[in-house]
Parts: sequence; structure tokens; C-alpha cells
Amino acid sequence: MRIRLDGVTKRFGAVTAVDGLTLELEPGRLVALLGPSGCGKSTTLYMLAGVLRPTAGDIYFDDVRVNDVPPQRRNVGMVFQSYALYPHMTVFENIAFPLRMQRLPEGEIRRRVHEMAELVRVEALLDRRPEQLSGGQQQRVALARALVKRPALLLLDEPLSNLDAQLRQAMRAEIRRIQRELGVTAVLVTHDQTEAMTIADWVVVMNAGRCVAQGTPYELYQTPPNRFTASFIGHPPMNWLQGRVSGTRLQVDGLPVYLPLPAAARDDEVAIGIRPHHVQLVAPGRGHLDGRVTMIELLGHEKLVTVEAGRSVASMPGGAGDGAAGLRLQALVPADAAVVEGEAVGVRLPV
Ligand code: ATP
Repeated sequence: MRIRLDGVTKRFGAVTAVDGLTLELEPGRLVALLGPSGCGKSTTLYMLAGVLRPTAGDIYFDDVRVNDVPPQRRNVGMVFQSYALYPHMTVFENIAFPLRMQRLPEGEIRRRVHEMAELVRVEALLDRRPEQLSGGQQQRVALARALVKRPALLLLDEPLSNLDAQLRQAMRAEIRRIQRELGVTAVLVTHDQTEAMTIADWVVVMNAGRCVAQGTPYELYQTPPNRFTASFIGHPPMNWLQGRVSGTRLQVDGLPVYLPLPAAARDDEVAIGIRPHHVQLVAPGRGHLDGRVTMIELLGHEKLVTVEAGRSVASMPGGAGDGAAGLRLQALVPADAAVVEGEAVGVRLPV
């Protein structure tokens, strides 16, 4: 099902939760709505579900305007962060519930519950109650219950945030597999950029109720259209150099150095984002600027090195924290790189 939002706005009193959102979501795609807390993701999802009504603008499912269509007539399945399973019912009855509401014949219900239980791999758990399931198993049951009616649209509200890191990764792959197998259009809300990047075909980045960028995960990572998106996507986060253009060089704020510009820039004031894995550490005096290592965090096969840069190393008595003007940069280097906290280093930028 193709979804279209046309200038959709939702206000709660003085708060504008969603602000003139215009989007078109292709059929069969898994789309992530990604953004910081309070940016209007869940409100958008609830408007798609029909639980909330837009204050202005229109929502279309294929070419039908659904603003006035109640949730039960929208053919939408929803999975919540809390799973919201019925505690007194068995897994079978939880999955069967939407079909019972439709008053389908018992044989048909059994057949479809078993089919769905097989798809989400909970066939062996059908007689248990939710309290006898792990978080991941509850999540699978919630997914089966949302899908058993064969909805045209699957809505997922932070579905993995209650799971531990390892299980979350496994369930991401599962959701992806199930969504592909069914070919159902899906919209997932998350504030976790890794989750959005790994699971979605298409990512919509939201801030303050608006869409600030959209594209494939690869496009948004490689060519983010604005600073908000560049900062939000990618881990560890981007370094920023802010400064003034002077000919073909950049005078970075707080630094007594000029850097060659990586590309022709015409604005007087520019900000350049550099991802930590593009920052190289070299011997003092051999890079674009010198600094001192103030922190090293081991991340596994790489380590994240924080460098306070900007003044000549000789004049940096205590390194970080002495309140002097300067710049903090982070470099991602191999875990076995010979770097020591407190030592002087040169920083080479990809310019
Ligand atoms: P989170 O990730 O924290 O859930 P979100 O991006 O999903 O955030 P929303 O829940 O959509 O954000 O909320 C957007 C804004 O609307 C917030 O400022 C929120 O406080 C406000 N809001 C949401 N629901 C209501 C409501 N029922 N009444 C008043 N304000 C609300």
C-alpha cells in the first residue's frame, strides 16, 4: 500500500507535535521515522493508525483519503514498545484475538494462527501465557498478533527498545525477514540511528515535527543534506570545524591555524563535518594541527581517541580542561594503534 501524507499537522493545545509533514512512502518498503525524543515520530505513527486525527492536512492510503476512517477499518497492524499482550490469554489466544473480533470460523482461526506462529517461530509456545515468555518471544507474539489479520500496513513503535543489545540485533533481522516475506508496507519509529540504518529501506529524519531529510540509509550517511542529519546519523558522531573562509583556506574558530579547504566554499562562515574514522593521528608537526590526547575509549577492534587541539603543544600545560580556546576532535583508530593518553599528537584531516 502506498502511503501519502500531505501537509499533515498535529497540534496539542499550544504544542505543534507534527508540523506540515509531506511524505510519500512506497508500497512494500520498510520506512523508519528517525529523530530525537519529542520530534513527532509517535504522533505521526498514531495518525497513520487512526488513533489521532490530524489538525490539518490529509493522509492517503493508496488514493483513498483516510482522515475520517476509524482505526479498526484501516487494515493496520501495530506493535508497541511494551508489546501490550493480554496477560490472561495464552499465546494462541493472543494471536487469535484480532480474528475472533472479526468472527471468523474456528477452523480458519486455527489455520491462520498456526501459519503466523510458524512465520514468527513461536509454534512451540502456543499454550504459554505472556509471563512465561522472554522479552524476545513476547515481541514475536506481538508481531504475530499485528500481522495475523494480514494488514496492508504494519506500524512499529520503538519495538525493540525493551530488549538487550544482542537480542535487539537478532530481532531486527527477524522483523526484516518477516516484513520481506509478507511484502507488507511497514513504518517503524525509532530514535536509534543504528536501528534505522540497519533495518530500513528508507529513512525519514525528523526534527521539531518536520521532515529534515529522507533517503536510503546509504545516501543519508554518505551525503547528508544538512548538519542535523550529518550529526544524527553515524557513530561515533561527526567532528565539526566551524570557521571563516579566507581564499582557499579555512580559519577555524579558536585555532591559530589555517586549513586548506576540502572543496570550494563561497560562504564566509562554514561548518565542515569530518567523521572520526577519517581523522588520522600522526607525529606532532606532521599533520594539519597539533594537539594532545585527552581520552581513549576502547570500542573493540577500534578505539576512539579524543584530541584537544589548537594551540601549540608546548603551550598546553595540562591538556584538556584548562579552559583554553581550542578544538576537540575524535579519531577512530585501530585498537592496537600506539596512542597514549596525555601525549602530543598531530592530527591530519581529509582535506
Ligand atoms: P519519543 O521518542 O520521546 O516518543 P516522539 O518523537 O515520538 O518522541 P511525540 O510523542 O510524537 O514525539 O511528541 C511530539 C510532541 O508532542 C512532544 O513535544 C510531546 O510532548 C507532544 N505531545 C505528544 N502527545 C501529546 C498529547 N497527548 N498532549 C500534549 N502534547 C503531546
